[in-house]
Amino acid sequence: MDCIFCAIAAGGIASETVYEDADIKAFKDASPSAPVHILVIPKAHIESIAHLKANHSDIIVQLIYRAKQIAADKGLRGYKLVFNVGREGGQVIDHLHLHLLGGWGNKENPDKFRV
Ligand code: 5GP
Ligand code: ZN
Repeated sequence: MDCIFCAIAAGGIASETVYEDADIKAFKDASPSAPVHILVIPKAHIESIAHLKANHSDIIVQLIYRAKQIAADKGLRGYKLVFNVGREGGQVIDHLHLHLLGGWGNKENPDKFRV
């Protein structure tokens, strides 16, 4: 299988890693859409939220919990957590990923991002 995020998870493609354990990896988005833009992925290949099975509930909790920990570590007081789902939902990489977006609302980045 030719999946760029599987390759990043395995360390075959370099990324700026923010967090890693046996199940998940968090790394900086290569083309950030926010002052802080981090992707949190399962190491196992799951295509998207639309492909979740009942036994994936634990990994989803891990992704969200890790995103909130990273946000706290970075001192973000507010942030967005986004899953794009399918092409019509803006998903380009077909390996599940949670976008952590934040870092607005300070002097350097006063503008808030709206969706
Ligand atoms: P999607 O649109 O699929 O929800 O988001 C994919 C994200 O992955 C985009 O924000 C894009 O900038 C990021 N991305 C794509 N390729 C790479 C890569 O090779 N390395 C990193 N760090 N981010 C990537
Ligand atoms: Zn993959």
